[in-house]
Amino acid sequence: MVTTQGGRAPILSDLMARPSFQATPGTRDLFAPDTDRWRVLTGIFADEASRAGFGQVVTPMFEDIGVFTRLGEASDVVSKELYDFEDKGGRRLALRPELTASVCRAFAQNRQLLPWKSWYAGAAFRQEKSQRGRFRQFDQVGAEVIGSHDPDLDVELIALAVRFYEQLGLVVGAEGPTGLTLLINSLGDKADRPAYLSALTDYFNASLDQLSEQSQQTLAVNPLRVLDSKRPQDAELVAAAPVLADFISAEATAAFERVQQGLDALGITYTVDPRLVRGLDYYTRTTFEFAANSLESAQNAVGGGGRYDGLVADLGGPDEPGVGFALGIDRTLIACDEAGVFATPEVNVDVWVVCTTGGLEAVGIADELRQAGYSVDRSFDNRSMKAQMKAANRSGAAIAVIVGDGEAAAGTVSVRPMRAPSGDTTGGPAEAGQDAGTKQREISRPDLVGTIKELLQP
Ligand code: AMP
Repeated sequence: MVTTQGGRAPILSDLMARPSFQATPGTRDLFAPDTDRWRVLTGIFADEASRAGFGQVVTPMFEDIGVFTRLGEASDVVSKELYDFEDKGGRRLALRPELTASVCRAFAQNRQLLPWKSWYAGAAFRQEKSQRGRFRQFDQVGAEVIGSHDPDLDVELIALAVRFYEQLGLVVGAEGPTGLTLLINSLGDKADRPAYLSALTDYFNASLDQLSEQSQQTLAVNPLRVLDSKRPQDAELVAAAPVLADFISAEATAAFERVQQGLDALGITYTVDPRLVRGLDYYTRTTFEFAANSLESAQNAVGGGGRYDGLVADLGGPDEPGVGFALGIDRTLIACDEAGVFATPEVNVDVWVVCTTGGLEAVGIADELRQAGYSVDRSFDNRSMKAQMKAANRSGAAIAVIVGDGEAAAGTVSVRPMRAPSGDTTGGPAEAGQDAGTKQREISRPDLVGTIKELLQP
């Protein structure tokens, strides 16, 4: 136990006196321009989802722990990785390890018109062993539909994810590092599961000593998850295990065929993987996963989802079916980096204001141009003309607006193009002072917005 010098138990102020001031393992800080890239990605997803009739849902980051334990106590996400805690009111709460359960809880609590199509973006928390592509706080975008059994919705959701990835430059079915593999499977209905589970358990029990120790433990808790084992020792047994497809109902089989026909009609390449079971226990019927060719297999899943008929009822709602997916933003961006697509955008301001008068000219100019719709930044602290021009140059701004005592007295401003307009940065920023005679011009102060508009026209 940690004790203080006097030997007494530490009180809060003792602990606060020596904080680490480091982001805790598995969490990290993100800065611009990476945050710009993040925002663009979320925007692309939001646009795709809105075009398909999905509305955004925002749910709390923490919930009563029961919302998440409903996901299945046998899954690692619930049994090992949950960040759970008791608040000062004695409530047992947990940070969300994923968003589907919260979305279903929100639906159960505030019924919506059916079918209810929603999308989300937000952080999820899992106490996993952190490594590249595996964080304790990570972000997801996702979509859910509650209230319809129609397998065409499974197709619509898969297509939504596929079109989103395509806009990033990751292409389902493509060879090489830009390619993603779409794996699909049907887990049948809940009623189909017991017969399969008992066949699976009998099969693995018959060769128990050949299974890895870890999988022997998993077998006792959740035989389905043994199929998920990536350990080489288990590979042979897993490959020859009974497959669920032989145990599922005619209705579930027909629904799965319809999903495949839909994907074929859209030209979406997929592989039926009879061993795809996914991490959470609530899935029924269609399940799917997107794996990035460019990532190592232990962390190559960039997204996945499926049907979860039964989860809404488990969370106190009507017995409505659901289907959805979540895509990991962090991992998707790593896959983009590996594939050399969806580069971090270069974000430069339009205008940099240089002002040496000591007056309020820069304050007014920046505000006026921002209100006119331009991005504007400036120097502060009364720096010299040379220092301010250097900052203007370094900023990548397209135009410097310069006000010295002469301009201020004459009611003018000087305007200097720093680089080619319309985001063309191929020539790089001009050196401060370069071409000053030909490029820089002095204009009347009221003409400023009009001149900037003219100069920034593509
Ligand atoms: P899951 O609900 O586990 O299928 O997660 C959906 C997606 O979220 C996965 O395909 C990953 O891309 C991402 N994901 C899950 N866990 C993590 C994690 N610990 N760190 C980063 N991304 C994760």
